[in-house]
Amino acid sequence: MAKYDLVIIGSGPGGYVAALRAVQYGLKTLVVEKDSYLGGTCLHIGCIPTKVFLHHADIYETFQRAAEFGFEVKDLKVNWATILDRKQKIVTKHSKGIEFLFRRGKVETMAGWGRIAGPGRVSVEKDGKTTEVETTFTILATGSDARSLPGVEIDSKVILTNREILSLPQIPKSLIVVGAGAVGVEFASIYRSFGSEVTILEMLPRAVPLEDEEISAELQKAFKKRGIRIETEAKVDSVKKESKGASVTFKDKAGKSETLDAEKVLIAVGRRPLTENLNLEKTAVKLERGFVHTNSFMETAEPRVYAIGDIVAGLPQLAHAASMEGLIAVGRMAGKDVQPFDRVRCPNCTYCEPQIGSIGMTEKQARDAGLKVKIGKFPFSANSKATILGHNEGFIKVVAEEKYGEILGVHAIGVLATEIVAEPVAALGLEATLDDMAAIIHAHPTVWEAMGDAFNAVRGLSINA
Ligand SMILES: Cc1cc2nc3c(=O)[nH]c(=O)nc-3n(C[C@H](O)[C@H](O)[C@H](O)COP(=O)(O)OP(=O)(O)OC[C@H]3O[C@@H](n4cnc5c(N)ncnc54)[C@H](O)[C@@H]3O)c2cc1C
Repeated sequence: MAKYDLVIIGSGPGGYVAALRAVQYGLKTLVVEKDSYLGGTCLHIGCIPTKVFLHHADIYETFQRAAEFGFEVKDLKVNWATILDRKQKIVTKHSKGIEFLFRRGKVETMAGWGRIAGPGRVSVEKDGKTTEVETTFTILATGSDARSLPGVEIDSKVILTNREILSLPQIPKSLIVVGAGAVGVEFASIYRSFGSEVTILEMLPRAVPLEDEEISAELQKAFKKRGIRIETEAKVDSVKKESKGASVTFKDKAGKSETLDAEKVLIAVGRRPLTENLNLEKTAVKLERGFVHTNSFMETAEPRVYAIGDIVAGLPQLAHAASMEGLIAVGRMAGKDVQPFDRVRCPNCTYCEPQIGSIGMTEKQARDAGLKVKIGKFPFSANSKATILGHNEGFIKVVAEEKYGEILGVHAIGVLATEIVAEPVAALGLEATLDDMAAIIHAHPTVWEAMGDAFNAVRGLSINA
């Protein structure tokens, strides 16, 4: 029986990153993957293809504003087939990139369904054949799949998840998106840019409910301006396939029932962890509603078995969280001095138009925690580079502790928000204060310099606002 130091089940951004770090630390490593490609949800049906679409949507919207920028464009048309093709080429290129990194790093791979076979053993099933390997450590990195609503059948043609909506042969004339989390608002944004009539139905009182309340309000305002209808506190009663498209019946916040028709319906109501059929019931691994309990070093209750990524209870379902959890797990098993996973320091980025980039506590979380809070806000309308780019909407909001100026959270909505959030991510990571950040020299003219103004705004010292 082949023997490894580490077997990782799943090759998403959790698993593949963990594998590459493991070989850097000299661990003989095997990655087991059930799909025919490496890279998981993120690369194939998540982060990367959606960001390709969003970039193309942005280009299209810029072309539509050609006259304002001094260009004359005649007969502007979307070639959807080319966009689909480019998306696939990007995905394939980066999947091959992981294959190359694995070859170079001597990470071994085995195709098939991996599961725990016993203490220190993993079995891999493929085409009815089972192979067993021995291992000192195991990482579960099996990721997640789209959830549906009770009684709603995903037919994959009209009623869709993130998987099918990425390969539609044509842009739908109308789209209903159920769920206004990051996945829901990104697809709403994409298809609205390409001309679909879009309605979002969200059960909670606001879109992107994990973000600061003012960010949600600004996104809803911006989406409304873009012609996207958003119904919050909307309870979906049924989603039915019709002869042409589907109908969705929901109760609005006043309790009034309404039925809407659309060519396509996207169900984006969250992701369920893939932890079935892994034999976990025969281990000490603790599950809660399918999610795996770990400590902040990603150790499960079963000795030498770790869990990372979307299957972990209580941690964000984000690619960069999965990757960091993988690095922590491998560092821990290799006896390195690693920091525990810190949820507060994990950025959230939503790449819709307008973009959202945030880190740390929202204003409400900080106040609920009993902290004395001071707020600074800076609008992108006062940033010259944002004006040059033609995107003045949105703002940056800084949540700071009043007495010592500790930075508790930073929330940006607007142009390049997912990029410029890098500065507060470093600031929180290094426990910087408002004084530290006020001393940073920001290059001019950049969108990034708006961060400097926002930090200074907490003490009423913003120059440009
Ligand atoms: C539409 C969409 C857009 C997203 N956009 C972003 C974004 O912009 N930024 C961001 O940070 N996050 C984004 N996410 C979330 C991100 O994709 C996930 O958080 C991330 O992929 C989780 O990584 P993972 O390694 O835990 O799991 P996954 O990426 O799901 O990978 C798990 C892998 O394990 C394999 N596997 C499962 N079970 C077995 C088994 N028993 N045996 C062998 N192999 C198995 C699967 O085939 C898969 O390859 C998005 C998600 C979606 C759906």
